[in-house]
Amino acid sequence: MISELDLEHLKRCIDLARTALEHGDEPFGSLLVDQQGNVLAEDYNHVSGGDHTQHPEFALARWAANHLTPEERAKATVYTSGEHCPMCAAAHAWVGLGRIVYASSSAQLAQWMEELNVPPTPVYNLSIQEIIRNATVDGPVPELADQIKVLHVELQQRINRS
Ligand SMILES: [Zn+2]
Repeated sequence: MISELDLEHLKRCIDLARTALEHGDEPFGSLLVDQQGNVLAEDYNHVSGGDHTQHPEFALARWAANHLTPEERAKATVYTSGEHCPMCAAAHAWVGLGRIVYASSSAQLAQWMEELNVPPTPVYNLSIQEIIRNATVDGPVPELADQIKVLHVELQQRINRS
């Protein structure tokens, strides 16, 4: 179930995704939120330097491992504009984080990329539930997915112009 507070956090993720795009990065943004609903950390995608492991969800998993107890991690929620990729889902599980809420799914992203004639990435577009045992996951959120698609279309248009 997606609450009003969940929606607020997801909208912040989309703002961060827009910031990533403005910096020439892929439009993905994420938040780490504690059990009380406080935002502990936020990040966006940083792959434009050539390191394609610089995903926000991976950064937040590392931040959580360094700053939170195992109990705090288990009760924390990661909000993200686009569903975790397999690398980030694995990192999330390895550090013992809790719920994931995403606005658009990996399947939606794969479909958008296909529509835009973008070649497939080296990593399969698997769902979080295919990577993490007993995952607590909510998403996608249809009313937000269109806003994210616009950002991905804009990135491809920039790439095609350059
Ligand atoms: Zn990732």
